[in-house]
Parts: sequence; C-alpha cells; structure tokens
Amino acid sequence: MDLSPRGMGRVYLWTILGTAACIAAALVVDSFNFPNLTDEARLRAILVDILLPAGLAAPLLFFFTSKLRDLAIAHHRLTEFASIDALTGLLNRAAFTAEVEAHLSSARDPRQQRGALLVIDADNFKAINDSYGHDQGDEALRLIAGAIRAVLRKADRVGRLGGEEFGVLLPGSTPITAEAVAERIRQNVRAISFSPSGTPHPISVSIGGAVYEQQVPYNELFRRADQQLYVAKQKGRNRVTVAPILDSRSSPAVAA
Ligand code: GH3
Ligand code: MG
Ligand code: MG
Repeated sequence: MDLSPRGMGRVYLWTILGTAACIAAALVVDSFNFPNLTDEARLRAILVDILLPAGLAAPLLFFFTSKLRDLAIAHHRLTEFASIDALTGLLNRAAFTAEVEAHLSSARDPRQQRGALLVIDADNFKAINDSYGHDQGDEALRLIAGAIRAVLRKADRVGRLGGEEFGVLLPGSTPITAEAVAERIRQNVRAISFSPSGTPHPISVSIGGAVYEQQVPYNELFRRADQQLYVAKQKGRNRVTVAPILDSRSSPAVAA
C-alpha cells in the first residue's frame, strides 16, 4: 500500500483511522449515559454512536485527505517541472548545481568527502544541427543523455548543464574509478547508433574531470573539471582528462 503523500493508501488509512477515532469518542462520551438505559435503548445508542460518525466523518475525511493528496501531487509535478530538463529528463542546471552543492556541504564522513565531478561536452555538435536540423540534434542529445545515465549508479547525480554539456557527480569516487567511469561514458556515447539521413553519424564526447579528497566548494570543483574539459578538447576531442582538485599537475589523459 502506497502510504506516501501522493498515494491512495494514505487517504484510506487516514479515513479509517479518523472514522474509528470519531466512533471511539462518541462511544466514550455516550457511555456515561449507558447505565441509565435499558438494554434495547443502549443497543440503539451504540448503533447511533457507530453509524453517525461513520456516515458523516468517513466521507468528510475521505474528501479532505483526497484534496491533500491532490496538493501533494501538484507540488511534486511543479518541483519536477522546475528541476527537470524537458529534453533529456535529466536534472536541469539549477537543480544539478543545488544537489551537488548540498551534497558537498553535507559530507561529514571522510569517505563522503571524496568524489569526482565530470563535465561532458558533445564534440562538434554544431555540425549535427547544421547537417540534419535541430530536431535531429535534439534526438542526439537524448541519446547522449541515455548513454551517460546507463553507466551511472543510483547514488550518482547527472544533469544537463545547458546546450550540449552535461555534469556528473560521482560521490565517493577515487581518481581511478572516476577515470574508469568517464571512460565508460565516452565509449558508451561512441557506441550510439545515430543515422539521421540513413548513413551513420558518429557521436563523441570530451570529458573533463576533477577529483576531490576533502571538502571543496562547487565553483572550484567545476572550474577544475572545466579546465580538464578544455584540455581534452585541445588534445583532439573524444577523450577523457581527469585531475585531482588540489594538485595542479593533471593526470595523464586516457586517450581515445
Ligand atoms: P566542440 O567540439 O568544440 O564542443 O564543438 P561544438 O560544435 O559542440 O560546440 P559549439 O559550442 O560551437 O556548438 C554547440 C552547439 O550546440 C551549438 C548549438 O546550436 C547546439 N545546441 C545547444 N543547445 C541545443 C539544443 O537544445 N538542441 C540542439 N539541437 N542543439 C543545441
Ligand atoms: Mg560541444
Ligand atoms: Mg559546449
């Protein structure tokens, strides 16, 4: 039974519990009169104490808890609308940034204070729009989003930062796993089958990553990952470059 604020289970539960409470209250209050009543009158009084609250309270409680459920559903839809990128279904930039910032500032356990941010940018994406039109470009963005998501675990966060750029937070990741995940994303995107005009058009991404091993502000993390993305683009695209946040020496790029 779905007891969440959006579930019907909660409506039924509150209706039953509320009605039972009203019946119990009526019986308790009325019980002071019971000693003065004949058996027949007492039975009638008990029946009235049960049927009246059940007939009045149950529909009212059902109505009000249903309205509360409608409000919870509307609130959920609005929150989703405000935080989800309509094209890809990923978090939008504002929601991704807020989630990553919240994660970075809430980390208490030292193991949670390490992780990695990947910034992923589609290569030569303008050519896709120019050659096949904006709709096919949109389709390519959806495919890229799916290829990224397919690699990630539940605890990871992924968002579309804008245009053809995506962000991924890998909580708890070490430099080695961050590079391995980034490399799997690169390969997954490369394996996408995209043939907008009958002939396959290869899609690739460049990925810059910043690995942190202690608490770090989001801006600094993003700046470092973006620098690495620039390095990956400079080295020829379709590649991964990951560097630690506090070490100015970048790790060797994982070549395509
Ligand atoms: P680079 O490898 O250097 O990243 O080259 P690029 O062509 O990917 O980069 P550039 O910044 O020159 O072009 C990005 C293109 O992405 C331009 C823009 O039209 C396209 N784009 C941005 N947002 C969307 C979108 O929502 N849908 C589509 N179809 N295209 C988009
Ligand atoms: Mg690009
Ligand atoms: Mg870009």
